[in-house]
Amino acid sequence: MIVVMKPQASEPSIHAVTKYIEENGLQIHLSRGEEVTIIGIVGDKSRLSTENLRVFKDVDRIIPVTESYKLANRKFHPAPTTVKVGNTSIGPGNLTIMAGPCAVETQEQLLCIAREVKAAGATILRGGAYKPRTSPYSFQGLEEEGLKYMQEAKAATGLSTICEVVSLEAIEAAGKYVDMIQIGARNMQNFILLKEAGQSGLPVLLKRGLCSTIDEWLNAAEYIIAEGNPNVVLCERGIRTYETATRNTLDLSAVPVLRERTHLPIIVDPSHSTGSYKYVGPMARAAVASDADGLMIEVHNDPAHALSDGPQSLNFAKFTALTEELKPFCHLMGRSFHEQ
Ligand code: PEP
Ligand code: MN
Repeated sequence: MIVVMKPQASEPSIHAVTKYIEENGLQIHLSRGEEVTIIGIVGDKSRLSTENLRVFKDVDRIIPVTESYKLANRKFHPAPTTVKVGNTSIGPGNLTIMAGPCAVETQEQLLCIAREVKAAGATILRGGAYKPRTSPYSFQGLEEEGLKYMQEAKAATGLSTICEVVSLEAIEAAGKYVDMIQIGARNMQNFILLKEAGQSGLPVLLKRGLCSTIDEWLNAAEYIIAEGNPNVVLCERGIRTYETATRNTLDLSAVPVLRERTHLPIIVDPSHSTGSYKYVGPMARAAVASDADGLMIEVHNDPAHALSDGPQSLNFAKFTALTEELKPFCHLMGRSFHEQ
């Protein structure tokens, strides 16, 4: 439940309410807006008398929060969250573009891609060093060596960096070399990994599970935040449906649904959702029009020879043309296009 304080409630009255809640063994989550302060309550509410809460000075309303996710819930935290990632941030007002290869292949490849995506307007370099592949015989990633190349690419370009993690070992290694970790679709409900990502304190990009509902996805985000890490960004990457013309079905309606339900920033991945470079541009434009906070796009210097996801990767010319096309869309949506 949340307790909405009256506008201009005094500090002592807010303190009296939070003290009462904590004395009853529950946790509080304070959200201070310009007008009102909201006190979110997490824990076993049967221990608390709402009748008693109502008599506190400056308490305006008590609203039940029926959803099982609380800290990710917009009711708990009405203002949109901005997540800082290295020297950039994801949130309202900007369109953040994360771009790079599906997998880090070589030092030269990554550096060359980093320079090109930066020149085209990306602010975060993506690159997989731990690849959760469908087939055990496919390229599995360079692991820590790949993370080192990410760090070198950051040093050379100033781009912030993101890499997927698949285990605690990978989280610990990623924490040394990159700015943000990614939990991929296949691990969205790996609750142990979610808790470990929460404990790492690193910014986390949480991709939607292959067959997950929005409710399950927000509960997965809750696992991370409940460990004391509020730096979570959601990424819609398509879900599995009966349609086979595209790799997945991009659920763009997830963007306005999430906006209503959560304060967390939202990114759209038009690459994994469509599986074809031909559809990346139209879906990227649609994602900006849906008011997403950013995009994650796979870019490769030579898609025909990529070690993974070549068919959906944009070459440099296509990526540059796309970012140029996105600028007026950003403008229409009142967002600025980061340029370093
Ligand atoms: C990726 O971004 O590299 C990836 C594997 O994506 P997903 O988890 O969405 O399939
Ligand atoms: Mn990929």
